Amino acid sequence: MKFKKQIAGLQAYQPGKTTDEVKKMFNLETVTKLASNENPYGASPNVKEYLDIASIDYAIYPDGYASKLRTAVAKHVNVSEKQLLFGNGSDENILIVSRALLQPGLNTVVADVTFGQYKHNAIVEGAEVRTVPLLPNGEHDLDEMVEAVDENTAIVWICNPNNPTGTLIASDKIKAFVEKVPNDVLIVLDEAYTEYITDETYEDSIHLLDKHPNVLIMRTFSKAYGLASFRVGYAIGSEEVISQLEPTREPFNNTVLSQEVAIIGLADQAFIQSCQEKNNAGKAQYEAYCAERNFNLYPSHTNFVFMEVKADSDSVFQGLMKRGFIVRSGNALGKPGYLRITIGTEEQNTELLQKLDEVLKEEGVL
Ligand SMILES: *Cc1c(COP(=O)(O)O)cnc(C)c1O
Repeated sequence: MKFKKQIAGLQAYQPGKTTDEVKKMFNLETVTKLASNENPYGASPNVKEYLDIASIDYAIYPDGYASKLRTAVAKHVNVSEKQLLFGNGSDENILIVSRALLQPGLNTVVADVTFGQYKHNAIVEGAEVRTVPLLPNGEHDLDEMVEAVDENTAIVWICNPNNPTGTLIASDKIKAFVEKVPNDVLIVLDEAYTEYITDETYEDSIHLLDKHPNVLIMRTFSKAYGLASFRVGYAIGSEEVISQLEPTREPFNNTVLSQEVAIIGLADQAFIQSCQEKNNAGKAQYEAYCAERNFNLYPSHTNFVFMEVKADSDSVFQGLMKRGFIVRSGNALGKPGYLRITIGTEEQNTELLQKLDEVLKEEGVL
């Protein structure tokens, strides 16, 4: 058959093991998954309250324009409704953007290492992928990324804060970068963790749209809002960019329930605030742990940490899994010797760090 040449050998996304699988494998009673940066506190309790009594007409298609959710998000981020694109998670927005802009003969510029879906979608579309190594501090090398742009560049991807390093690029650096990139290149700012940022120098990037209609900001309900299972992400852009992207998305890409719960989650900003505070306290547990053991830890502006373990990450990952904690091995993320751990509740962090000590003793590191 006539499959695209470029997808030969391309791997499907490898989800980690589920907690049920790990329970069975190691005969454990409880398994804690701190691997995908989901909110350990779940979602706003108002979501559960709604779902308990929700009454929807199963046979009717959802609102394909997500009108009610659109109104709520537009108000929340203070843009017009025509400046929003809703996707089945940011993952789908990445696909929509790639589908609309990339093709053989064009290229896209991404950091190495960063969120894997930018590169993955570019390969599917047959575009050249130009990777630019991160700076030693874990930030994107914006100067080199500008250098990599040429007349055939269609998209530059900036993950800020970056997954997996958790580092934040300062707002003034982003602004200077956006000014240097030609205005016919789409600049995507993937801000999946924006709700966790507490750095005082951070400025909301939406104001960049006033002068730079080629900027597109992506946010999601999957992380701080605790609604990953519902698959809702949104992109904020200029009306001209959004109107070009809209035709490439599926007609009914958010379900009825996902639209409803996203509205409810958005309305409970007190919940987001409390998660942010607890997250900062949890982050401090990892910072103290790494400082005591002299492990490098990238400064995190997210709900995960990316830390050195001075051992083979895959064996440490296995050791933690046997003890009931699922994390991500740095090997899988392009940084051997590191682990990416979602910051859990205080209790989960304490227990995980105790187990990590056990594993690292076995590994001869401690
Ligand atoms: C989790 C994540 C996404 C995907 O989010 P969904 O909305 O669940 O698809 C996108 N980008 C980054 C950087 C992420 O960490």
